[in-house]
Amino acid sequence: MMSKKEDEKNKGRRKFLKTGIAAGISAAAGLAGGAALAGRAGEGAGRKVKALTTDGKLIEVDESMVKSSKSNSNESPATVGRKESMKGLPNRKFVMVVDLAKCKNARACVNACQQGHYLPKDHEWIKLYYLKDSPETAPYWFPRPCFHCDSPMCVSVCPVGATYKRDDGIVLVDNHRCIGCKFCMTGCPYSARVFNWKKPEVEQPDVPYSPETNVPAAEGTVGKCVWCADNLRQNKLPRCVSACPMGVLYFGDLIEDSVTNGTETVRFSKLIEDRAGYRFKEELGTNPSVYYLPPSNRSFSVESGLEGKDEEIRDRYERYVKKYKSKR
Ligand code: SF4
Repeated sequence: MMSKKEDEKNKGRRKFLKTGIAAGISAAAGLAGGAALAGRAGEGAGRKVKALTTDGKLIEVDESMVKSSKSNSNESPATVGRKESMKGLPNRKFVMVVDLAKCKNARACVNACQQGHYLPKDHEWIKLYYLKDSPETAPYWFPRPCFHCDSPMCVSVCPVGATYKRDDGIVLVDNHRCIGCKFCMTGCPYSARVFNWKKPEVEQPDVPYSPETNVPAAEGTVGKCVWCADNLRQNKLPRCVSACPMGVLYFGDLIEDSVTNGTETVRFSKLIEDRAGYRFKEELGTNPSVYYLPPSNRSFSVESGLEGKDEEIRDRYERYVKKYKSKR
């Protein structure tokens, strides 16, 4: 059982995700309470309303100058442009841990990502692979987001600076700059990038483009997992992490040495040490920011990950299953 002291510690770590990430962001917004000042006077001019600034001052402004910051169905403001998106959140170095022992291909992460980023079914920014390390070992499910590498090959090969790494560790793509050359797709050794060959099949929201969401998508550009940088800005976990029913994905901050799957908050370094965490194809020198915990002591069979999946998904994995079986 957890001692009172440990419980307090855990609460403290959890608080970093609740309050730390967003510190200073509301100040930038100017007004508290989900409202912002609009640029010019219009309907409603003449009526005065009271508003509270983030530094606690009560001010009176014309009603026509107040614009609600209510956002789209994904509750994402998606208003951070290139310049702001390049800075990253101050004093953060984000990290993800994937517990392979818990993953059963529920695909809730894939669905939440696709819904949150208005992606068609065949664009999987987080992909579930069926892997087997050797003919003798058991297969397992392997979720692969973008690894937000510290030495990202995708960034070094982009000829126009459309993809960049920011100080908090997140690698983004600006589709207003992307020329669709696909060098980054070739450069990425993990196949984490997806090309938008067509006009978006899923209706895109009417919001200004932001590299933090890569929404609205544009034909002829590259997309990939953004670790839900817009959510982090709002003090929320990435969508895949919140959606996983098995608690497979942990997300947090290397500086705080803390990660959470939304239910459990743990010390990152201890988790990696105790469970022999590793990074995928570390030998390539990309320094991924995603760590894996080996799929040992699993309580379900890998085949159970095919139950209830639609035909296309089952077909895809059954091909892998056959391939591995034939190699025995
Ligand atoms: Fe770039 Fe690929 Fe690394 Fe993501 S996984 S940062 S796309 S090299």
